[in-house]
Amino acid sequence: MRSKFMSFIKLIAHILFIIFLTVLTQVGGIIWLLTIIISKNKDWKKRHVFPIVYLIFNLLLIPPIAKQFGRERLPWFHNDLVPRNWFYPLTFRNYVNPELKQMLIESIKNCEFKITYLDACFPFYNGFPLLPHLSHNDGKKVDLSFMYLNKDGKPTEQKPSNSGYGAFIKDANMPCTDNGHWQYDFPKYLSFGMNTELQLDKKRTRALLKALLSKSETQSIFIEPYLKRDLKLQNEYRIRFQGCHSVRHDDHIHLQIK
Ligand SMILES: [Zn+2]
Repeated sequence: MRSKFMSFIKLIAHILFIIFLTVLTQVGGIIWLLTIIISKNKDWKKRHVFPIVYLIFNLLLIPPIAKQFGRERLPWFHNDLVPRNWFYPLTFRNYVNPELKQMLIESIKNCEFKITYLDACFPFYNGFPLLPHLSHNDGKKVDLSFMYLNKDGKPTEQKPSNSGYGAFIKDANMPCTDNGHWQYDFPKYLSFGMNTELQLDKKRTRALLKALLSKSETQSIFIEPYLKRDLKLQNEYRIRFQGCHSVRHDDHIHLQIK
């Protein structure tokens, strides 16, 4: 009786873990399922099998399969287009359609500095949201970091937040927060550590936005209205306010293409 109960608890734990991995990485749940099968058949330990199978999927198997379905991964290691940290490529959150990838690579040439990406999309299926971003579900969206100055006012490649999110430029409540949209400020809990000495580099952030706007593929860019003003981009109709139902966009740029 007791062992039956324990098997039931184990089954529930496996199911919950599969759901967790699917939400976080899309394909991680399948990798765990495969890990269970391999470990059972070969009598190997799951903790040894899982990282190996995961890396094989992440580095070797999924990129060519995703390509068949119209998604390409943004680079892990590239001189000028880099993830904020290893989390984004390791969790399959760096996939976009080929047009967006090409456009980002071309934009680099116009700005002459590194572009840092955050969450993009998953490798498969239109409509599968990359939480917590509901709209990152079709390969056409990616979040990018602003550019910053260090404490001496010199341009730096550093970013204030470890995750890339949650370091707001203006340390004040936004109208949406005051209107009771509790989620608007939520990214402040997702920074995972911050370097508060960095300041927004208006010149290079503007150059980055200009480079993105120079591409005909760009459909819209979300940043907070006060930043649009500060960066002297009032006339750019494609830079929009994302609305109060979303989160603040004075910690990153949201880019979507047609
Ligand atoms: Zn976004």
